[in-house]
Amino acid sequence: MRVEGWQAAGLSFGGRIELVQSVISAIALFWLQSIMVPLATIRKIEGICAKFIWHGGIHAISWEQLCRPRKEGGVGLRSLVSVREAAGIKLAWRFLQDGSPWSAWMASRYLRGRNFWVCEIDNNFSVPFKHILRNRTVLRTAIRRKMREGGEMDLWLDPWISGQSLLEILGPQTDGVAYRGLTCRHIISGGVWRPEEYRFTAQLGEEIRQVQITPTVLSDVWVWAPPGHSEGAGEFRFRSCYDLVRPHFDDIEEYDFVWGKGLARKMQLSAYKLVLGRLLTRDRLLRFGVPVPDPKCVLCETENESIGHLFFQCHVTWSIWAEQSRRHLGGVGRERDFREILKWIGDCRGHEQSWARRARLRLAASVWHVWRERNRRIYEGLSTPPVSILHNIESDVLVMSP
Ligand SMILES: [Zn+2]
Repeated sequence: MRVEGWQAAGLSFGGRIELVQSVISAIALFWLQSIMVPLATIRKIEGICAKFIWHGGIHAISWEQLCRPRKEGGVGLRSLVSVREAAGIKLAWRFLQDGSPWSAWMASRYLRGRNFWVCEIDNNFSVPFKHILRNRTVLRTAIRRKMREGGEMDLWLDPWISGQSLLEILGPQTDGVAYRGLTCRHIISGGVWRPEEYRFTAQLGEEIRQVQITPTVLSDVWVWAPPGHSEGAGEFRFRSCYDLVRPHFDDIEEYDFVWGKGLARKMQLSAYKLVLGRLLTRDRLLRFGVPVPDPKCVLCETENESIGHLFFQCHVTWSIWAEQSRRHLGGVGRERDFREILKWIGDCRGHEQSWARRARLRLAASVWHVWRERNRRIYEGLSTPPVSILHNIESDVLVMSP
């Protein structure tokens, strides 16, 4: 098995991620948003992209993980599977737009007077229309009906009360005969709701009164209003649609360390792999079944190499970090672990925010230089004395510091 080498020929890891990002954006924009592409095809494309990113070697970080936003532990690639799902929602949204000849044709062909929200999927329906119907559940969490006095919503079946229909609120056991065939117009008069006539419970009556009516005789319209997004003023936005369907994860604690302002891209990515514990150190390579001639750390040549050892139990790397910490951070934390050092930086009160930022930059730069030195020793047979590494870190920090 190949190992993603040090600066493997051509583009760096970061460069390959950027390239894949642009390819994915192009696919998302010009292809997926207009045609329903089979899921298997999408997965195949994603597989090719992942293979390219890892240069045909070990996939140290899963594709799904890379596709998370940076705040949630990814590198912000877009998942084509989620783009495809969002495109399905977009299609369903387009169908709902009253007045489009396409949706009128689809409705007359397949719905034939049945209600869109409760119509069951029929085998005779076309693939796109089945797709539209399958997306109803997610779609309704993202849209809101702007009620006008015209009030054409089906009183019983349409989801007009905070995204729910009367049928759903009262339950299917309720006899809806009294409401069948009625539209909201029947309980609006003079621009206000009049639910009294239909003997709803006081609570339901109150919920109905909460539904805003825009006083104009124009028809009702659907507005795009996904939770947590206010941009677009009711107009469809693919970005918020994507956000609606993609998987969500907790924020990572080390976000500032990895993606903080000023840090060079190559350093961001080594910090990123470090935070996830995915740098391919020799202990991990052995676990992946890669033959490693010697499991020892190439810096100290005494202990076995692992992420914990390199950052910073190894006396060589620790001497590099401790010297900087003494010089610039007013002391040395006791814990020889990058996470503890990060915590120590965060806990150092009485300093300005820019101090913590610089300290994190310094730590990330040290990580990158140590990793580079390790790779140069292994793959190129070159070695730099710690004092020169320290010097190189200093000049990089100087360039990146605010
Ligand atoms: Zn060592």
